[in-house]
Amino acid sequence: MSTRTRFAPSPTGFIHLGNIRSALYPWAFARSTGGTFILRIEDTDLERSSQAAVDVILEGMAWLGLDPDEGPYYQMQRMDRYKEALRQMQDQGLVYPCYMSVAELDALRERQMANKEKPRYDGTWRPEPGKALPPVPEGVQPVLRFRNPLAGVVAWDDKVKGRIEIRNEELDDLVIARPDGTPTYNFCVVIDDIDMRITHVIRGDDHVNNTPRQINIFRALGKEPPVYAHLPTVLQPVVGEDGSVRVEKMSKRHGAKPVTQYRDEGFLPEAMVNYLARLGWSHGDDEIFSREQFLQWFDLDHLGKSAAQFDEAKLRWVNAQHMKAMPDEPLAMLVGEQLKKRGIAPDARLPRLCGLLKDRSDTTVALADWAQRFYQEVQPSAEDVAKHITEGVRPAIGLLAKMLEGVPWDKAAIAESLKEVLRATGLKMPQLAMPVRVLVLGTPQSPSLDAVLELLPRDIVLKRLANV
Ligand code: GLU
Repeated sequence: MSTRTRFAPSPTGFIHLGNIRSALYPWAFARSTGGTFILRIEDTDLERSSQAAVDVILEGMAWLGLDPDEGPYYQMQRMDRYKEALRQMQDQGLVYPCYMSVAELDALRERQMANKEKPRYDGTWRPEPGKALPPVPEGVQPVLRFRNPLAGVVAWDDKVKGRIEIRNEELDDLVIARPDGTPTYNFCVVIDDIDMRITHVIRGDDHVNNTPRQINIFRALGKEPPVYAHLPTVLQPVVGEDGSVRVEKMSKRHGAKPVTQYRDEGFLPEAMVNYLARLGWSHGDDEIFSREQFLQWFDLDHLGKSAAQFDEAKLRWVNAQHMKAMPDEPLAMLVGEQLKKRGIAPDARLPRLCGLLKDRSDTTVALADWAQRFYQEVQPSAEDVAKHITEGVRPAIGLLAKMLEGVPWDKAAIAESLKEVLRATGLKMPQLAMPVRVLVLGTPQSPSLDAVLELLPRDIVLKRLANV
């Protein structure tokens, strides 16, 4: 039987890295087993769901290359199907109407708490042979409750957490339809997982508590539940008002960014996939790998058991490694996009600029910052000018400008001119190169000067050198 996995996000906030990791693993599992990956948008919380949040899910997944084979399905478009399933369950006696009012439920809960019991529905309206039910109150629309088994255990072998067993006594009869007939969350998930023939549910461990309830509904409907793998939380460091750092579950409230923001900040999708893959899964000591390697290696047996902590510095490092390894042409396409956003038209120099500068940048935005110096006026800081453009070096700069007027415009000839100036003035290379960089690129640090100058038009170099 071929594997079928799904990502089932609720579009109730902008999807962040912790959420999208729950898409990466089911996607990878489907791809690496030749199966099918399904996207299902769980949009039944009408108050909190938004189209903007759906868009970030779709854009983020497309950017990372996590393409679904089926879907997106939207739960709101499947209401008729859920209602039909509810009717069938009612016909089969798997659910029953419960007329207990909110006030009665509250009173029940209070009594249970006072007796130090776990608050739970007490089965008042659950029909049993020989049991007399209370009279049906007038004008009250009942909820529908699922007849949870009373005895025995629900157990599953979680691919991450191992064997989990819950006694049915611990579970009360779940409300699966509201008074207005709309189905509730856990019920929709089970009907979807059945209809979509999901074989492996890989999701956040905030759903572990739902799983025994969902399994009972599967079984009541005569279906075998899927294999479950519950992923530990992603944590993030949070700086408190007093400056102390604590670790919290990653969330928008703590400043987690929408996943698409990483695209805008110049991260490569390959690097994000690599980083996210490692945030909860491992393949020996491998830190840097390609998407193909990840798909070759991925399995459910090496998912991490403890919570992983997001580390932006490490993400930047991973991104830098992927940028270094990327050929100049495709890298230049991405950097070109960043330059266009700044109103700069990239040209044929850009791949070579990327080759020259990519070691110094950890994002394509940082690389575009560098490249921009080759396309637009530069403004050295007053501090750099004061420090580097000294009286002692001005004549050497003048001499260099003179020589550069006449040489062929290539790296070798430029290097030769620099050496000549050193010979003529007795300066050492850094004494000349730093001020030239400040004038030409606006910063004293840069790759080798001959390579930099070669990639600027001669007239621009001469103009900038004349700014002494
Ligand atoms: N919609 C749920 C969420 O966003 C996931 C449900 C599931 O994977 O079963 O957390």
